[in-house]
Amino acid sequence: MSKVFAFHGGIHPPENKKQSTRAPISKAPVPDKLVLPMQQHIGGPSLPLVKVGDTVLKGQMIAEPISRISASIHAPTSGKVVDIAEYPIPHASGLSAECIVIEADGEDRWIEHQGLGDYKQLKRTDLIEHIRASGIAGMGGAGFPTDVKLHLSEDHIVNTLIINAAECEPYITADDMLMRERAHEVLGGIEIIAHILRPSHVLIGIEDNKPNAIHALEAVLKHTDLNIDIVVVPTKYPSGGERQLIKLLTDIEVPSGRIPADIGIVCQNVGTTAAIYRAVHFGEPLISRIVTVTGDAVRHPKNLEALIGTPFSTLLEACDVRPEALSKLVMGGPMMGVTVENDQIPLIKTTNCLIAATEHEMPAAPPTQACIRCGMCEQACPAELLPQQLYWFAKGREFEKAKHHNLFDCIECGACAYVCPSSIPLVQYYRFAKSEIRTEERDQQKADHARQRFEARQARLEQEAAEKEARRKARAAEAAKAQSQKTAVQSSEAAAPETAAPDAKQLKTAAAVARTKLKKAQKAYDEAAALNADNLAELEAALNEARSKADEAEKALASSASSGSEGGDDQSKQLKIAAAVARTKLKKAQDALKNAEDKGLDGVDKLRATVATLEQKANEAQQAYEKAEASGTDKAPVEVDIKALKQQVSIMRTKLKKAESAIDNCEDEADKTRLGQEVEELKKRFEQATAQFDKAEQVLVERAAQAGIDLKQLRIDAAMARAAVTKGERSLSKAESDEERSQIEQDLVAARSKAEALNQTLSQYE
Ligand code: SF4
Ligand code: SF4
Repeated sequence: MSKVFAFHGGIHPPENKKQSTRAPISKAPVPDKLVLPMQQHIGGPSLPLVKVGDTVLKGQMIAEPISRISASIHAPTSGKVVDIAEYPIPHASGLSAECIVIEADGEDRWIEHQGLGDYKQLKRTDLIEHIRASGIAGMGGAGFPTDVKLHLSEDHIVNTLIINAAECEPYITADDMLMRERAHEVLGGIEIIAHILRPSHVLIGIEDNKPNAIHALEAVLKHTDLNIDIVVVPTKYPSGGERQLIKLLTDIEVPSGRIPADIGIVCQNVGTTAAIYRAVHFGEPLISRIVTVTGDAVRHPKNLEALIGTPFSTLLEACDVRPEALSKLVMGGPMMGVTVENDQIPLIKTTNCLIAATEHEMPAAPPTQACIRCGMCEQACPAELLPQQLYWFAKGREFEKAKHHNLFDCIECGACAYVCPSSIPLVQYYRFAKSEIRTEERDQQKADHARQRFEARQARLEQEAAEKEARRKARAAEAAKAQSQKTAVQSSEAAAPETAAPDAKQLKTAAAVARTKLKKAQKAYDEAAALNADNLAELEAALNEARSKADEAEKALASSASSGSEGGDDQSKQLKIAAAVARTKLKKAQDALKNAEDKGLDGVDKLRATVATLEQKANEAQQAYEKAEASGTDKAPVEVDIKALKQQVSIMRTKLKKAESAIDNCEDEADKTRLGQEVEELKKRFEQATAQFDKAEQVLVERAAQAGIDLKQLRIDAAMARAAVTKGERSLSKAESDEERSQIEQDLVAARSKAEALNQTLSQYE
């Protein structure tokens, strides 16, 4: 005989069980229509496998589980699927949910089915899979899919299997009657579960108010080899709570936030064991259950074996309901059940009781009074919580505090509300707080998920941008290398290999790019310095490197310009000399011809031909010289810095205005004359600077046009792109949501890329 321990709290409400145990279990009639909700269990809903118009056989799977924690649903009788839509379901929310409606054909024809025979020869996983396919979920009220409870991980070693036969809630006698009449099914189910879990011993916990059931169990246990103990516990509500029964039978407390399997214990309801027995030995899925129909508003309270999906009205009629006396219809027991307004709601796998109560039996709750902090709720609480504190936290929406006071250890047994002298509906507050916390957690999870996705996307975009930039740089380096090789070859083929002229255009572009980078590096460093940022040293190093590169590029450009100019001068000089030499030779030849003609010497014709040849050569040399001079003059403005010229024009304009203003304010005539001369001089210089700028600008415009570029338009486009970047950066700093920030970031990447591309093109012409 196993020892019985005690749990904290508990109450002794009137049992009201005898009314429904006078008659044996009888079969409920098969209704015309059965309504089968897709969510009859904890976890995900089932997914319909049939469509409207399909005919189905009894026991045929009509909905399959869609997640690990879910259960399949089977047709309770043969007939036709007439609807798949939302119908009211048996839930505290009173809401509707998806249901399959079957019109019974009256034949009650089974699908072909058979038991597994010697199940002990099967692999345990196959056996668990069969239980899953049979749609069995805990029948004690919670409805947790049974296969999940049996399929434990390697970490879970089960020492004790506890069969919950306590059935502690008043009025409910379904398990009691099952044990009295079908104890062999209960034992058969226990043997299957024990075969799967291999516990060292099995305990059946049953309240001492069920002597007939205890005798029936004792009788069948004589025929088993298993180490099974029946532990009779005192009648006290809620001894059938999982944690309370474990404490009663083993004196072990399941730690908060853990499950019994973590401490080597698995609990199964007595009704669930019988369902497993029928599924394994006869191949019958869970399509019916025993339900207690009781209350003073029915003339013949009893237990009915009813098909899942049977409307409550059919069950009430089967027990001879007195509609005129019916005041309240409660699904479940009086402590944990919920009041339903609609008798068309169907029976589901977890419905163990239906109470048709009269006004006298269940009068309306008295008005709620203020909490007087009497502490009676705390004394009654089997979970050793502080119900009045939880009530204050829930009422004040202090959900975090409620959580820290173990709100989720509350089993909603209602013992606290039962003893409360102020009639405070405490359980309703706890349900509300739990629901709010779950909603908040779901929202938080969604927000976390969205943030993670945003960050991952940003990282990906940055990575792509970095890779793109690296590829661009590699291409630029390749192009520069190829160009440099080409220039070297061209230079080596030129007449003066030792003075191989670098490509001035390229050098100018490189210098402009280096200047832009230097500006950017300077700006980044200044901003970081203002904020005293962590990466200041890094930015300083980058700035120094950019400065050094810009200096090198400027030097290379200056050297190219100077050597180019010297080269041009040399060439011009040489051509000038060549032209002079040609003229000298021509002069000598002309003198010789004149002398020969004057003296009548021989060879005059030959001298005339020589003079003609020399005349042509002298002309060619002169033209070459003039052309070289002209081309040298044309190139000059191109080499001038257009920005410097523009600045020069601006300075001259300012000086001129100042000087003109000074004249206006001057009263001394002598000074006025002197200032007038200065103004004239400044005007000239301003006009010269303007002309120089216009000429240089014209050359740049023509050069860009040769490359198919409208320089003015290019400047406008670049300015607009820069403005778009500035605008985007401003918008980013004001963004209010992650989504908005993400969109702006995306636009900014594109805007920056466009602005950079346009600036680079522009830098080739400025
Ligand atoms: S039993 Fe009711 S009145 Fe007493 S402390 Fe608890 S909530 Fe307050
Ligand atoms: S409903 Fe919750 S707080 Fe109230 S007695 Fe039961 S477990 Fe304790």
